[in-house]
Amino acid sequence: MGEDWDGQKEAEPGERGHAGDMQGGGRFQGGGKPRPYISGNSSTNTRNVGAGLAPALEIQTAWQTSPALFNPALQAFLEGLYQLGLELTEKQLDQFLWYRQELLDWNTRINLTAISDPDEVLIKHFLDSLSLLMIYDAPKARLLDIGAGAGFPGLPLKIVHPQWHVVLLEATGKKVKFLQHIIEALQLKDVVAVHGRAEELARKAEYRGSFTMVTARAVASLAALVEYAAPFCHLGGQMIFPKKGNLAEELAQGKRAASYVGARFKADVPVTLPGLDDGRRLLMWEQVGKCPEQYPRSGSVISKKPLGLL
Ligand code: SAM
Repeated sequence: MGEDWDGQKEAEPGERGHAGDMQGGGRFQGGGKPRPYISGNSSTNTRNVGAGLAPALEIQTAWQTSPALFNPALQAFLEGLYQLGLELTEKQLDQFLWYRQELLDWNTRINLTAISDPDEVLIKHFLDSLSLLMIYDAPKARLLDIGAGAGFPGLPLKIVHPQWHVVLLEATGKKVKFLQHIIEALQLKDVVAVHGRAEELARKAEYRGSFTMVTARAVASLAALVEYAAPFCHLGGQMIFPKKGNLAEELAQGKRAASYVGARFKADVPVTLPGLDDGRRLLMWEQVGKCPEQYPRSGSVISKKPLGLL
């Protein structure tokens, strides 16, 4: 299982380092590593960036003198936020930059991402994660991210929507430790990193049928994802899977798979955000009935006998 996503592959075995090496870094506020770029005090400075500002940015304070402002990737990130109608506080932007620093630091010890360029992290991880807001934006949500890895797309969504309840599900223990470190360091509330597999968690009463939105990026084929995700959705819940490349066959199979698990295909939306113009799409299903108890099947059966095969 697993697929390429911006050059990364699912990587459970063979990760470098071990848990004991990973506890570096400090808290986002009040100690630890210096924060890059931003010096504004998030508790007192209420000036926001993003929606409502011209893309050229009319920000005063530390931002205006920061070299970061002239960084094309940061400009593209902010332009993307603007297109999404997002209004970030300086604290949220600071959280993103701190998350990026920790991601790249931990990535030298455990395999979290194939992207090592800080500019690419902004676009291909953060903005790409937020692209889901093109088709799903709700004041309240209970979101499950299956196979969250280093937190994509769930954590960027949590940062911009602090009021959402978010569960990051990840099968690899070292990645879960990273997620817990970021959650704690950024002092995010109402978000948990759970160590486990989707096919097992879906059997637990507190998770089954309890989410308004389920997502997964770069984890499995669409048919497999629909089978993993549908049991977690409550009636009317949405599943959104970012994908790119030639999807004709995979999508047709994913559409057929939906009928087994009480879901219905809803939308295929191209991503139109700066720097993400390489054929990315958001594929969306809706839970329209109860998912039969027999789903999801075991991971090995799902990969050997995927639903929706002709
Ligand atoms: N979603 C992240 C991203 O896009 O950067 C990580 C993608 S990574 C290629 C796939 C991740 O899914 C791996 O970390 C793997 O451990 C996890 N995974 C694969 N199958 C899973 C399952 N059945 N349940 C939970 N996690 C799973």
